[in-house]
Amino acid sequence: MTDLDLSFIGTGNAFAPGGLCWNGFLVNEKFLFEAPPQALMSLNRLGVDPNAIEAVVISHHHGDHFLGLPFLLLHWKYFGRKTPVRIIGPSETEAVARQVCERVYPGLFDFSFEIEWATAAPGAPITTGDLTVESVPVKHDRKLNENLGFACRLGDRRFAYTGDSAICEAVLDLARGSELLVSECASRAERLPMHMNLVDDMPVLRAALPPESSLLITHINSDVTDPGLPRTAVARDFERYRF
Ligand SMILES: [Zn+2]
Repeated sequence: MTDLDLSFIGTGNAFAPGGLCWNGFLVNEKFLFEAPPQALMSLNRLGVDPNAIEAVVISHHHGDHFLGLPFLLLHWKYFGRKTPVRIIGPSETEAVARQVCERVYPGLFDFSFEIEWATAAPGAPITTGDLTVESVPVKHDRKLNENLGFACRLGDRRFAYTGDSAICEAVLDLARGSELLVSECASRAERLPMHMNLVDDMPVLRAALPPESSLLITHINSDVTDPGLPRTAVARDFERYRF
């Protein structure tokens, strides 16, 4: 059975409550889900070589999921990246990245390695090494061009990630097909229109998962603790979870 090994580079929601790092996680030390502002710092702190990242998977263009990309590019450019990297995200990810990066580090895109930009379109799985991701539209910020969750295969393992989303049929579908679901949960009891909470939504999501599957909660407020649900845990910054 393929190892399924997740290291969290952050677990906080957009407000970094209580000093939590912004949400993101690394799968098997080579596939990075989300590029939060502190992504490079977190990889360095975990002792993971940023040049070993084979793909970055971005769910949407909110700053807490995206604005770490300039720093990753900076590292790759000046610290010897030679191998290609794939960046998977919603449509216009390359255009948004170029806009931001060229303004904050002019000339940043003048580098010698290759970026393979891949638009994550629903129904069109993207394979990088032993990881295959297929996007699903989720219910988040309608002012953004797209908001995605991902159904993923890693060798013979199946996991999913909600991205940022309110409770909706798409995230329930992700739960039904997964042995591990990484879910956002932005608050304990407060009802936020673009997000899920612990009290109302996590029990619904947990019920949609097969009983033997695991639920890992991230993108949290600092009062999201002790889920009290079977096979469910709240992820912690810089913690590693093996399944
Ligand atoms: Zn968001």
